[in-house]
Amino acid sequence: MSRKPLISGNWKMNLNHFEAIQVTQKLAYLVGKDELEHADVSLHPPFTDIRSVQTVIDSDKLGYALGAQHCHWEDKGAFTGEVSPVFLAKLGVQYVICGHSERRELFGETDEMVAKKVAAIQQHGMTPIMCVGETLAEREAGDTEAKVLGQVRAGLAGRTSEQVGRMVIAYEPIWAIGTGRTATAEDAQQLCAAIRSCVAELSGAEAADTLRVQYGGSVKAGTIAELIAQPDVDGALVGGASLDADEFARICKLGV
Ligand code: PEP
Repeated sequence: MSRKPLISGNWKMNLNHFEAIQVTQKLAYLVGKDELEHADVSLHPPFTDIRSVQTVIDSDKLGYALGAQHCHWEDKGAFTGEVSPVFLAKLGVQYVICGHSERRELFGETDEMVAKKVAAIQQHGMTPIMCVGETLAEREAGDTEAKVLGQVRAGLAGRTSEQVGRMVIAYEPIWAIGTGRTATAEDAQQLCAAIRSCVAELSGAEAADTLRVQYGGSVKAGTIAELIAQPDVDGALVGGASLDADEFARICKLGV
């Protein structure tokens, strides 16, 4: 089956809401509706910008999906500083990143927490982009598949086949995030294919066929075409390069 690529721009803790509006408007000028026939595009601003970006997307009918970078798994309560998936759904958010390596490493997000987030995001009608990936030390020790597939199994715990089939998993080797080092297209393909086989074992062939697997890690306009040409790479999660509308537009156009 051919899966439509998903290109997701993770702005991390960058761009205030005025800057976010500017980047969205510039992107809209560069990537119109016709170009979105070939790829879905989601924008993941910081929480303080989501409402502003939503207004631009809605009022100009842009065709980009609104995204978030993180959320809590509970609907409401005494969780100072956290954001409810219910609030995100109310804002029209469609995709929520969870288990990003920066959240796992810097904020202690565990596999169990990621699984609860995946469940909460789907419960409120949004799509999780669940990130998995190995450190350089794990790669050098030959533990890449064990680490990555362990995270996949933990994150999918309790999900039905139908729910798994609607998810996005982002394979993001940690050593390639924000470093300028990219996995080769062959490496990305190998790991994305291993993730899909693991999903087939856990949730069946149909779920594995519809699930989208992104690659993330220093993706640039010059590398997207080769990555996306791989049969099991269904898009990209893009950090640094998504802050520059010109560069990100070329990525959204799949390097053309
Ligand atoms: C990311 O933020 O998930 C990411 C892959 O960042 P970068 O593209 O900057 O490596």
